[in-house]
Amino acid sequence: MNNAELAARDLRALWHPCTQMKDHERIPPIPIRRGQGVWLEDFDGNRYIDGISSWWVNLFGHSNPHIARRIKRQVDQLEHVILAGFTHQPVVELSEQLIDITPVGLDRCFFAENGSSAVEIALKMSFHYWKNQGQPEKTVFVNLSNSYHGETLGALSVGDVDLYKRTYEPLLLRPETVPSPDCYQREPGVNWREHSELEFAHMEAILARRTNQICAVIVEPLVQCAGYMRMYDPVYLSLLREACDRYQVHLIADECAVGFGRTGTLFACEQAQVSPDFLCLAKGLTGGFLPLSAVLTTNRVYDAFYDDYPSLRAFLHSHSYTGNPLACAAALATLELFKQSDVLGANRQLAGIMAQVTEHFRDHPNIAEVRQCGMILAIEMIKDKRTRTPYPWQERRGQKVYRHGLQNQALLRPLGDVVYFMPPYVIQPTEIEHLAKVAWQGIQLATND
Ligand SMILES: *Cc1c(COP(=O)(O)O)cnc(C)c1O
Repeated sequence: MNNAELAARDLRALWHPCTQMKDHERIPPIPIRRGQGVWLEDFDGNRYIDGISSWWVNLFGHSNPHIARRIKRQVDQLEHVILAGFTHQPVVELSEQLIDITPVGLDRCFFAENGSSAVEIALKMSFHYWKNQGQPEKTVFVNLSNSYHGETLGALSVGDVDLYKRTYEPLLLRPETVPSPDCYQREPGVNWREHSELEFAHMEAILARRTNQICAVIVEPLVQCAGYMRMYDPVYLSLLREACDRYQVHLIADECAVGFGRTGTLFACEQAQVSPDFLCLAKGLTGGFLPLSAVLTTNRVYDAFYDDYPSLRAFLHSHSYTGNPLACAAALATLELFKQSDVLGANRQLAGIMAQVTEHFRDHPNIAEVRQCGMILAIEMIKDKRTRTPYPWQERRGQKVYRHGLQNQALLRPLGDVVYFMPPYVIQPTEIEHLAKVAWQGIQLATND
């Protein structure tokens, strides 16, 4: 078997996610034979550093032996069992541990299979909580511009990335969208904290105006990952927590992408010392091995559903594979890896190296900004730096960087014109240097006209 054979068979049978399939006439899909640490290897023997953790799910490397061992042990014991009326050891242990490590006050775990479902659950629970409390008129969600919360219709509704959303607009819920505190937009001379603080006025105004109709505010703490890796200051989350309490509105923290150490703390909310009413976790939860997501919430929310059956206050939501034991075993193994060594400390070193090796990028005439939050570093390409004019999106400059990467042992998958590194935590300094070198060359190629 080689790349060409498998790619040809693929293109006769598959329809790939988030892909214009016609693009594959020029760039065939790459069949991967194996993964080891940060490296992926294809059927022709080419190797690639997974600079984006395979869509941000991988934390401790591909085929991580510790996680693999845990799953192998579980698979001979119990592969799956219905989680309604039944339970099992991995899901109980995982729930206990998640309650333990997440911000204080989150005392209940509800499981699903992906981030979008976790977001759907948080939205439904919030609305249902207010209904159970005698406030059914609370039906509106507040979100941030440029946010992303997944692809199912409810999750898509509370996102705001035009590329994914606009087509489906007639089908969607209508949230109240508030300008994002995104610090790329700050005026010269204004720092991150000041900018994020100033932007909060929009949120305050909406919360004041529609208090009685709003169930919840949903945000991605600190980094809007799918929204071109735009970042903001923790102060916004502090102000938001305080305002949500004041107006009696839930706070949903969607940490599907930023949870589990990505931003420098185990959970991004910690940097603002806040605890949300709902915390959505996915992606890194199983170290990138198996699909699993969780929504954590408070006993206060939980208690509003707890009643005699005929009251019909229960949360009658389920997914077939809810709390799958293999996925829970992978998650437990992932949490063990966090306990076995000082992962966050080691990440600080790696993040420092990522900053160092991209320091000179800032002076490039077609790089508007290099921004970083922990183990996420993003480089925004721009047509005119002085006037802040972006390239026309149709030119697909980022795709040139992508292609250059593939020819040079690097999987970099820019979001539009934003090239970013979001590597597994087991990356070595020399591998970071390699990513930076390839990104620099790719950006030169993509911007030299
Ligand atoms: C990826 C992502 C989701 C959706 O998760 P899926 O598992 O892809 O459904 C939701 N929210 C955020 C912030 C994400 O990054």
